[in-house]
Amino acid sequence: MFDLIVVGAGLAGLSLARRAAALGLETVVLEARTRVGGRVLGHRTGAGTYDLGPAWVWPTLQPRIATLAASAGLTLTVQMEAGGFIYQDAAGRTQPLASGFPQEPPSMRIVGGITALVEALAAHLPPGTLRLGHVVHRVELAASHLIVTAATDDGPLSLRTARVALAVPPRLIGRIEIQPALPGSIASALAGIPGWMANQAKALALYDRPVWRASGLSGSAFSQAGPLGEIHDASLTGAAEESALFGFFAWPASLRAARRTELADRVAQQLGSLFGPDAARPRDIVIQDWAREPFTASDADLAAGTTHPDYRAISLPAPWGDRILLAGSEVAPEFGGYLEGALAAAEAARLE
Ligand SMILES: Cc1cc2nc3c(=O)[nH]c(=O)nc-3n(C[C@H](O)[C@H](O)[C@H](O)COP(=O)(O)OP(=O)(O)OC[C@H]3O[C@@H](n4cnc5c(N)ncnc54)[C@H](O)[C@@H]3O)c2cc1C
Repeated sequence: MFDLIVVGAGLAGLSLARRAAALGLETVVLEARTRVGGRVLGHRTGAGTYDLGPAWVWPTLQPRIATLAASAGLTLTVQMEAGGFIYQDAAGRTQPLASGFPQEPPSMRIVGGITALVEALAAHLPPGTLRLGHVVHRVELAASHLIVTAATDDGPLSLRTARVALAVPPRLIGRIEIQPALPGSIASALAGIPGWMANQAKALALYDRPVWRASGLSGSAFSQAGPLGEIHDASLTGAAEESALFGFFAWPASLRAARRTELADRVAQQLGSLFGPDAARPRDIVIQDWAREPFTASDADLAAGTTHPDYRAISLPAPWGDRILLAGSEVAPEFGGYLEGALAAAEAARLE
């Protein structure tokens, strides 16, 4: 029997598992995907790793991320914003501006990508803690313990544990059969919490050289025309042989789905219209659509807006709350929805 089963190996679940291991708790992490990281995902090339999920941290405001990155020996670098900025209106007309909107504090990136953070956490878990490809679909409160059941390639697996931590976006908890069932008010409260950025998609365009810089541009742009709404330089520190831009899609999930086969071409065309003809010919375009990821987005997320929700800490009432902990970023006591929130939620989960 385990002391703790963590459901989800995103930043929150991994951080919680590390905390539990440090307390000497017999812990296992059950992760549905065949990789760790959840919304943290990197695209690797010979030059390094690009972030297809979260890319930015603000270490002066976010002490947990700052400490974790430092303890993993990772270097932070300021998001490249130097140079001209392009505004594109809904008709596709572009207007160059001397500079963009300076951010204070500036957004920082992690050299090696945010994946380097989750990999550092995963690497320091006791051997055997992580079990990938385990889709948890049932949690049953028995008299003195819980029974957690997961679907695996080898068939269903049931494990006994004293506690469970659900380190998943709250809406996905509705897919897990909890016995006895949660009160309707709690279930609908969880169903009402959007997964942050779960309906988003990112495009990454790779180039042999930073063609936008030759004309004094930073690579940053805001567009009302789409398909991308906000674009930035994604080039890696010290990788002279490759440069990159990334953009968040302005097109909603439904439009992206309807035009899936033309997305890459439309992105290339738009980059050309913003940064000149050479920018329309990237070496490669990678599109990561989080709305298509069943272990990130629920159907309700697909329609959600882009305003940051007012996330807050939630715990379950007795008898569930004594043994089923909620630990994903969206239920963090602060910085909910962000990477810092994932660490804050893991820190706040009552293990003792
Ligand atoms: C495009 C994008 C850009 C973002 N940009 C930023 C940024 O710049 N800065 C920032 O701070 N934040 C950003 N975020 C938010 C950030 O990614 C999240 O706050 C953080 O990754 C959440 O971590 P988590 O561990 O709480 O959840 P997740 O990363 O979602 O992890 C949950 C895990 O649970 C697993 N899971 C789900 N259901 C089950 C199940 N039934 N059984 C087993 N496992 C299950 C999933 O596979 C996943 O691995 C961004 C997110 C996206 C999508």
